[in-house]
Amino acid sequence: MNTKFIFVTGGVASSLGKGVMASTIGRLLQNRGYKITIQKFDPYINVDPGTLNPNEHGECYVTVDGYECDLDLGHYERFTDIKTTRWNSFTTGRIYMEVIDKERRGEYGGKTVQVVPHITNAIKENMLRTSKDNSLDFVITEIGGTVGDIEGLPFLESIRQLKWELGEDAIVVHLAYVPYIAAAGELKTKPTQHSVKQLQSYGIQPDCIILRSEHPLSMDLRRKVAGFCNVRPDCVLHSPDVSTIYELPIKMHEDGLDEVILKLCNVDVNEKITSNSYADANQKLSTSVPSTSLTEQWKHFVDLRKTATEELHIGFVGKYNLQDAYKSITESMSIAGTYKNRKVKCHFIDSENITEDNVAEQLKGMQGYVICPGFGDRGIEGKITAAKYLRENNLPTLGICLGMQIMAIEFARNVLGYSDAHSAEFSKTTKHPVIDIMEEQKNLVYVGNTMRLGGYECELREDSKARKAYGKEKITERHRHRYELNSSFIDEMELNGMIVSGKNPRSALAEIIELPANHWYLGTQFHPEYSSTVLNPHPLFLAFLDAVLRK
Ligand code: GLN
Repeated sequence: MNTKFIFVTGGVASSLGKGVMASTIGRLLQNRGYKITIQKFDPYINVDPGTLNPNEHGECYVTVDGYECDLDLGHYERFTDIKTTRWNSFTTGRIYMEVIDKERRGEYGGKTVQVVPHITNAIKENMLRTSKDNSLDFVITEIGGTVGDIEGLPFLESIRQLKWELGEDAIVVHLAYVPYIAAAGELKTKPTQHSVKQLQSYGIQPDCIILRSEHPLSMDLRRKVAGFCNVRPDCVLHSPDVSTIYELPIKMHEDGLDEVILKLCNVDVNEKITSNSYADANQKLSTSVPSTSLTEQWKHFVDLRKTATEELHIGFVGKYNLQDAYKSITESMSIAGTYKNRKVKCHFIDSENITEDNVAEQLKGMQGYVICPGFGDRGIEGKITAAKYLRENNLPTLGICLGMQIMAIEFARNVLGYSDAHSAEFSKTTKHPVIDIMEEQKNLVYVGNTMRLGGYECELREDSKARKAYGKEKITERHRHRYELNSSFIDEMELNGMIVSGKNPRSALAEIIELPANHWYLGTQFHPEYSSTVLNPHPLFLAFLDAVLRK
């Protein structure tokens, strides 16, 4: 079968869950045995979200190959277990940069370079790029923003052209919102009709319309939308409110989404999938659930999630809001919680408010703690104060990236007695830069950035909590940081009870530190949250919650 292309657009309002819907489509097709990928095209001008403020834009997600991208790619990976790369995420800025670079190199042969065809050609080329991997059955492309946004036009024009060029191999799924007007006691389809008209005015006819609504939608309402929007009634579907986003694949399957998509793409819906094609897609089956079909595994997870009602409270010592800024960490924690039959509640503890005097009060009431990643010196002293309290009171603590660095700084200050110990990121004058830029780092190849980004190998020390959690010696985890644990302090730290339990085999850079004497006090220089998925919850999050539950 030719690779099929599914474009996902959004209308009426933002935040309707287009990313989750694209992920849901991917999951449902995988459940039928198809091999898929999901990619995102964002209309903003930043070349990538690496420099965007997490409070405003949410977390910056990192792919295995070290690309800083939109947090929606985190949803794609958590839902589908695929490994996205730099070719799964584009912004207007990146496309323009590519075109302008080409123009500067004289590659347009003196032609006037224009939005159409040069920008749209670059967009189209990149929309098709992942399909060069011939084994893919479906490429799902989510367009950021809402139909009608000025900056989204080149992407929509590209879809219009591709739909024409690819014929029956391309379809458009449009997600729109149906509001309920309480005064009239009615659900209103007009905003949806307008957003479809807008799409049509760009020359794009959606093939399937998914209506987001908190209320049940009657067949009459669906027929009405179908009639106004030139779509078959059975291709108007309902995306309801769900108690957990992971229930959406189940609900959408019940509403017929995968069947509708297959029909629209002219794929036989009764085709029995015998091959194990998802196995090639890097998709190991989870050991936490019975090895049955993917649909069953997914249902098992959602059932567990609904029955896991006993709450577990985890405090996030950080400086960004919890809504989206630590999305992958909160999701990884709550997914791991589900497998432990617990409902994880994540609480934000603003490190800027933490002082020696109030630390006990600020941290009280939680069963486990995460010291969060971050950049810049705001809230650093509060994090160090929190780390001291958590270490001394033997409370289950997981430090991630900056969080791990904070654990090392605190240990150097209060156990090794170097009161000025700090990271070179925050103090240029400290005599004890326990966190610094290392000579060994220079041997590692960094791609287009001064940061260590993406997957790096790590070897785990025998008899460590880390090794026990992973159950193996060699792992690969994703990074996003500039500074490292200073190797000249390691011997002294180890003599005093803080061990390096994970090291990069090539550079010997420290990847994990832990306090064997404590119940669970472990920090990772890498970000385990980027590789935790619904069907493969991350071993460190599971082990952390085990420790929390034992306490
Ligand atoms: N700011 C630290 C560094 O660059 C940690 C980064 C992070 O937490 N992602 O090394």
